Amino acid sequence: MAFVRHPLARLVLSVAFVLLLIAGFFLYRWWGADGARVSLLRTYLRDPAAHQDWRVQAGEVCGDAPFQMPTNGYIGFVWGDSFRPGHHHQGLDIFGGEDLNTTPVMAAYPGYLTRLPDWKSSVIVRIPSDPLQPGRQIWTYYTHMADSQGNSYIAPEFPPGASEVFVEAGTLLGRQGNFSGDPDNPTGIHLHFSIVLDDGRGSFRNELEIENTLDPSAYLGIPLNARTRENVEAIPLCGAS
Ligand SMILES: [Zn+2]
Repeated sequence: MAFVRHPLARLVLSVAFVLLLIAGFFLYRWWGADGARVSLLRTYLRDPAAHQDWRVQAGEVCGDAPFQMPTNGYIGFVWGDSFRPGHHHQGLDIFGGEDLNTTPVMAAYPGYLTRLPDWKSSVIVRIPSDPLQPGRQIWTYYTHMADSQGNSYIAPEFPPGASEVFVEAGTLLGRQGNFSGDPDNPTGIHLHFSIVLDDGRGSFRNELEIENTLDPSAYLGIPLNARTRENVEAIPLCGAS
């Protein structure tokens, strides 16, 4: 910086340089953990058939966990993953590695299903008593069950406006899709599954905020919490931790 003569300009440049270093450090920490999962997911999606052993199976129960797996596929993103600074993933993204409208999505636990009238790709199931905290009501949310245009892959038993329909664990709810709400920018084909807190007035809280959701690890019997960092390099599977 010898070419910068003015002392004030030099100071500003120095401060800017230090700030850049600090930002880089945080970006590296942020990307280091979640970037590992991004690269594993790329590897899987390039050739899903070659990575069958990375997949969980719908209906599979890990140990004495109360929930069964809601779909087939590779759990590419877990609870607490950060795709951009300041935002944390509220659920699991499970990638079937198959075509649209193929991989089944099944209820992880019995409850009462609701599909709001404008929901193309989502259902939510009310569980009156949390198996891990009996007496508390929770909800399980399943989404991306439609194509990019919003053509629904939800099972015909659950039309828009369906409310409080009892479903057993393992009931077919629909099939994996790539609906994002923006036809020009669909997601990869996967199921987003999350466990949502009750609002105390008989409805569910806003699922888009991680504070309104629960760490699914104990419910599914696999470490699935990005914040604990125990599963950064691991393929999330039954019995693997
Ligand atoms: Zn997701």
